[in-house]
Amino acid sequence: MIYLKYWDPRIEEMSTADIEALQFKLLKTLVYRLYSFSDFYRARMKGSNVHPDDIRSLDDIVKLPFMYKKDLRDHYPDKMFIGGQEDLVRYHVSSGTTGKPTVVGYTQKDLDNWSTSVARGLTSVGLGRKDVMQVSYGYGLFTGGLGLHYGAEKIGATVVPASVGNTERQIELIQDLKVTAIACTPSYMVHMAEVAEKMGIDINRDTKLRTAILGAEPWTEKMRARIEKSTGIKAYDIYGTSELSGPLFTECSEQNGIHIWGDLAYVEVIDPETGERLGPGERGELAITMLQKEALPMIRYRIGDVASFDDSECACGRAHLRISRIQGRVDDMLIIRGINVFPSQVEFTLMSIPELGEHFQIVVDRQGALDTMLVRVELKNAQPFSDKLDDLLRLKGKVAHLLKNSLNVAVDVELVSPGTLARFEGKAKRVVDRRVL
Ligand SMILES: [Zn+2]
Repeated sequence: MIYLKYWDPRIEEMSTADIEALQFKLLKTLVYRLYSFSDFYRARMKGSNVHPDDIRSLDDIVKLPFMYKKDLRDHYPDKMFIGGQEDLVRYHVSSGTTGKPTVVGYTQKDLDNWSTSVARGLTSVGLGRKDVMQVSYGYGLFTGGLGLHYGAEKIGATVVPASVGNTERQIELIQDLKVTAIACTPSYMVHMAEVAEKMGIDINRDTKLRTAILGAEPWTEKMRARIEKSTGIKAYDIYGTSELSGPLFTECSEQNGIHIWGDLAYVEVIDPETGERLGPGERGELAITMLQKEALPMIRYRIGDVASFDDSECACGRAHLRISRIQGRVDDMLIIRGINVFPSQVEFTLMSIPELGEHFQIVVDRQGALDTMLVRVELKNAQPFSDKLDDLLRLKGKVAHLLKNSLNVAVDVELVSPGTLARFEGKAKRVVDRRVL
């Protein structure tokens, strides 16, 4: 059996310079099109005093105004669409957990670009015609199910459109249909592994399942390690939101970041406070421009997701830049002495220190004009405090040093005994902000 290395070699093998030249061409076309046909975006550009002729290089994209989720809600359901209903072949509608839902319309070309993007990603992790893929994302108005479904069909895999729920039946299908790959949320993957175990099924020994494409919710390297160790599956991250089309971009076989196809999207990571662009490795808010979307174009769309980017060439040979895992939401950001701090950064650093447990708390206060930050963290094992005092002082110094390196802010550290800090049923409340602003 011959395995494809690239789905779309013409695009995937492009050099950085060629990608950027193509992006500039596509951006110019997009901006002229929006200026001509989008009342919304023309007004937005005029408000920012910018004309399509001002876009003379790719970097000139910074002159263009941002778009926000609020814009979609304010123009519900379809007032931001370009063209009419007769141009559309599908709608997806996102659930409105925090307000009105948002509606996304797709032309046939929008759907083709979406499934091509997924097809490239699936090929890059080694999937193809030999594979049977179970799609255990929800089918329907949510983009997960159909997004993976059409991408997997495009590469010639055999799709099992299982959707969500009825986990025992899902595991039977995996066995009976010799499923080799699955797409679902990481938490559902963990759940499925637990149910399989209860059924007496060892996924590694009793099934052919070897690959998982996991997304639609934030997860961590720790969770990846847990999934891979307990099931023998290789787990890959996938990213996208309905406003961009749906799940679009995946990691490659290297598992070191999510490739964003440069012909389809232009990525910026910005400081959420100032809107300034940040460099490689710096953590900030994603702003994504979809370069070829027809029905609902998005320019510098601020998703609210926090990540960083890496533009060095990947070991897989692709020059298309990579973003990190999503590391949190901008809404969670703290500003300490003028520096943006994400609780996820604190978590990431603490988790790298083996002597520490999983529970921590961040206490922010203000003394005079100066912000202070205290990180209280539980030790992994109960310590007989009296005779280990030197060790504890050394550990405390190490934690403070590593946090300062990662956050660029000096931090006070308090090590506490296991079981000291509050536990939470749902989303953990990690931050106590005592500043009166
Ligand atoms: Zn790669």
